[in-house]
Amino acid sequence: MKHYPSQSTLSSAPVPEVVQDRIGWHSEIALIRFDHPRTPVNSLDFRILRQLDQFIDEMEENPYLGGVVFSSTSGSIFLAGADLQTLEKAWLEPSQLESYLQLGQRVFERIARLRFPTVAAIHGACLGGGCELALACDYRVASSDGATRIGLPETRLGIIPAWGGTARLPRLIGLPAALKLVTQGKVLSAQQALKVGLVDQVAPRERLLEAAAGWIERGAPHPDAIPAPVRRWWRKATAATVGKRAIHELERKTECHYPAMLEAAKVMIHGMSRPIPEVLADEREAVKKLSQDSRCKNLFRLFCLQEEARRLARNAAREVPEAQSVAVIGAGTMGAAIAQWLSARGIHVVLRDIDAQRLGDGMSRIFALYDRARKRGVMTSREVRSGVDRISPTLSPRALQSVDWVIEAATEQEGLKRSLFTELDQLAGPGTELASNTSALSVKALATATQRPQRVVGLHFFNPVHRMPLVEVILPEGSTIGKEALALVHQMGKVPIVVRDTPGFLVNRILTPCLLEAVAAFDAGMNAEEIDHAMRSFGMPMGPLQLADEVGLDVTLNVAEALFRAWPDRMVVPPLLLKLVEGGLLGRKSGQGFRQYERYAKGARWNAGHYRRRSGVEVDSEGLQERIVLRMVDEAARCLEEEVVPTAGEVDLGMVLGAGFPPFRGGPLRFADAMGAGTVVERMRKQGLEPCRLLRILAEESGRFYEREP
Ligand code: NAD
Repeated sequence: MKHYPSQSTLSSAPVPEVVQDRIGWHSEIALIRFDHPRTPVNSLDFRILRQLDQFIDEMEENPYLGGVVFSSTSGSIFLAGADLQTLEKAWLEPSQLESYLQLGQRVFERIARLRFPTVAAIHGACLGGGCELALACDYRVASSDGATRIGLPETRLGIIPAWGGTARLPRLIGLPAALKLVTQGKVLSAQQALKVGLVDQVAPRERLLEAAAGWIERGAPHPDAIPAPVRRWWRKATAATVGKRAIHELERKTECHYPAMLEAAKVMIHGMSRPIPEVLADEREAVKKLSQDSRCKNLFRLFCLQEEARRLARNAAREVPEAQSVAVIGAGTMGAAIAQWLSARGIHVVLRDIDAQRLGDGMSRIFALYDRARKRGVMTSREVRSGVDRISPTLSPRALQSVDWVIEAATEQEGLKRSLFTELDQLAGPGTELASNTSALSVKALATATQRPQRVVGLHFFNPVHRMPLVEVILPEGSTIGKEALALVHQMGKVPIVVRDTPGFLVNRILTPCLLEAVAAFDAGMNAEEIDHAMRSFGMPMGPLQLADEVGLDVTLNVAEALFRAWPDRMVVPPLLLKLVEGGLLGRKSGQGFRQYERYAKGARWNAGHYRRRSGVEVDSEGLQERIVLRMVDEAARCLEEEVVPTAGEVDLGMVLGAGFPPFRGGPLRFADAMGAGTVVERMRKQGLEPCRLLRILAEESGRFYEREP
């Protein structure tokens, strides 16, 4: 039996890989393993695509070949998709974009047309172009490992899958399911992918190649029992019935702010009854059109910023051993959620509270989070059981000698936190690092309550922890554990931004004026729903009053007071907020806030009306929206001016990931650039607001926060 020619690993130092003898296959099978030489993130640049093209030439010429398996050498990535640097360059140069798209489409189309069966053996992230390669194969086998995630998230980057993804996915899993996956940019676990038919089998990681070979052994590509004309008719009929409704629904949901979602849907719907080469041409046209759209450019830039933040954390993680165990202090809204997230990532957690009821409630929320993950197919029952087993709840202070980190998430009161830090310092071992999840207090003040001030940081998570990817890393002056903190954030799969230790850090400082303006408007008699609607229509995922309820009115008040102490002229706290907190209206967690929450009911009624000064005042929605947005822009500019973070990109990324600032607007500073600093200043003054120095300078010089327009 002949072996397939030597180069079958896509790397700078290709390793021959033919595994037929090892598992006794009957026919010869080539194994192509992706192993990007320059980066741990396997991605598809021009070079790798050309190399793949060459392999296909060789495979086509090999008469002995009975099949090919695509796999990867990486422990966590099958193929992460298009190469970001290549895409960034291509984005600026239409001819480059066209060649990149055409090359990928051609290579994948050649894979789809190979005369023998092809299988993608997927372990780790299989995203974008990686998923499209898998779709070009006849079969897909995924490892059951938690690292395996499959999907086409391109619409989140402002583009559409254009290496055949929009053409092939609806044919594989049906139009309705494909529309959902692509327009939402959903990424699935192996089990979820199996359920929708995106993969054919889930196998343990160690048996992945064997399982992949099994599909080749079984013979020819998927037999299609339905005759071609019937198939075409059926596709056309589905597209007509499902398509119209889907487009209408998308227009309504996105308010047309996210054109890539609509374009992807249109290409998929029209593509159902057309031959693949025509759909591929539509894909290319759609991407070229989207690359000129400012909303899509904003999404793409944010994605690049996010990847850069992740890269820094990944690099730090290479130099620091992984954390094995963490103690979380406080089992409230945040503590319980952080404990769940850590334990789901294999970390042992001690969860401590002083209140038995709160600890019990915290554990119930942890069970609920795990249960939801199981029901959604993100985790198996076994993984859920082990995750829960990794958490040890406790009411009494216990030695924390052997834990790697302590994350404090207790009630936001400086005195309480300072004495907690003194105690935690004594309980912790010499190798333990300390962190606080404080929203606005000085981390330095907490650090000085310990004997290890240089080994205390802020790790500011956002609510809800399982959805919000951002963690602000606050390194007080003299801190020596920046690398360790970034490594922990990386281990948790979150995106870090390093911020200066100033009140409210970055996100809360910029968001709080928005919440305070909304509360003041409500207090002045405006209708609550109209206030929230004003900001939802700007593109925020929820209105400010609802957000304050979700965060907790006590937490909102604490943050606002901390900011007021620092900037009394700008951060005036409406007396209503204090009245509500004193009245026990703490938001969702107490069942009452600006709304009344029924424990098990989904909706909530407006509430809190009788606490305010006036009611029934007409809302000038546009005026209110403009005022709130301008206040956020001004505060964002002040953060840049004071170097809370070093770049405009970090300000914008923080606000999009941490506060839900509409991604299509690119963040408050990108929004200001689009409006022009001169207009921002003029409108602020009309609203009776005084713009910061940086804004005034930019207005005078017709300058921008982003110097160049990539
Ligand atoms: P919470 O009121 O829901 O929970 C606080 C918990 O701390 C309670 O269960 C309380 O019993 C416990 N606690 C108090 N003293 C303690 C002690 N000495 N030892 C152990 N436990 C103690 O508050 P939360 O919303 O979870 O906020 C916790 C921290 O996270 C605060 O610093 C807050 O500013 C910050 N934070 C909150 C949010 C949010 O949206 N709620 C977001 C980011 C950060």
